[in-house]
Amino acid sequence: MSFPIRVCVICHEEFELKPGKPGFANRCPACSEPEADSPSPKDSTGFQNDREANAARRSAMRDLLYRKDT
Ligand SMILES: [Zn+2]
Repeated sequence: MSFPIRVCVICHEEFELKPGKPGFANRCPACSEPEADSPSPKDSTGFQNDREANAARRSAMRDLLYRKDT
């Protein structure tokens, strides 16, 4: 399994652009982390990773939509 190789715009290192990589597509994982949208989401929410955080966000959104519906 191979992924497209990108060059990070921050540190100019090559990295594999994996599907579902958190952060920017033109930044390596290391450079994406400090730019996270909220201050240490892992610590403050207890989510194990971004995917779980996103899933939680989506379900919260769904909750709102359903609520509006009823
Ligand atoms: Zn980088």
